[in-house]
Amino acid sequence: MSFFNSIGRSMSRAPRSTKRSPTPTSATFSPTESNYNNNSVPSSPVASPQTKPLYLCSPFVEAALVKGNFKTIVMLPKYVDIMEWVAVNIYDFYTNLNEFYGVLAECCTQQSCPTMSAGSSLNYTWINQDRKSVNLSAATYVDYVMSWIQTLLDDESVFPTKSGQDFAPSFPATVKHVYRQLLRVFAHLYHAHYHQILHLRSEPHFNSLFAHFLAFGREYELLEMKDIRGSSSAPVGIGALWEKWRDMGILEG
Ligand SMILES: [Zn+2]
Repeated sequence: MSFFNSIGRSMSRAPRSTKRSPTPTSATFSPTESNYNNNSVPSSPVASPQTKPLYLCSPFVEAALVKGNFKTIVMLPKYVDIMEWVAVNIYDFYTNLNEFYGVLAECCTQQSCPTMSAGSSLNYTWINQDRKSVNLSAATYVDYVMSWIQTLLDDESVFPTKSGQDFAPSFPATVKHVYRQLLRVFAHLYHAHYHQILHLRSEPHFNSLFAHFLAFGREYELLEMKDIRGSSSAPVGIGALWEKWRDMGILEG
């Protein structure tokens, strides 16, 4: 099943969101692009490169609410429009991740996370309106991402909710952008806040949410492997988690 092949090749570029984010200072930033930056060292309480991150260790890596492979959960139900299916799942991923972040937000501060870290040598940067790559604190970055997505979800021309309204041809490209940014929020939470997730005993729930997100993203070609793995000089921490779950049979190869 190819989401993108099913609707043609004409929408390879996402439209830039023209709506302003509810965050007062975020209007100067665009969440549509950002780059890897391995110049700075994350100061958040993370494992050193020599230490295996807790999310890769037993029993945490196996903790899940949903046992087995996610293939059947992500399959398009009979008689459901593929756009509708993608839209409703993105809404659910966003809502669930937003709730998790809301609980962890008090731990994600300017002091703990001065950058949007997602690996021992990886910090996501933001491209501002002057096309400059800037480092933001993780809290600010996540705030911009979530506000941007909320604005899109509220926009009937992007996520139509009334019968008879069609999805725009740009919808697949837009949701790909959304997916990429949501992946970064997951990547930061695993990298910088997994010990707090464990403290809350939420790792089965969080792992299942993320495995579902990965399986869905791969099924409908919303996620690129390079975004999951990162580059060799700045790997994404969760790239190893993806591989582990694939080897365990939770995710497709
Ligand atoms: Zn943080």
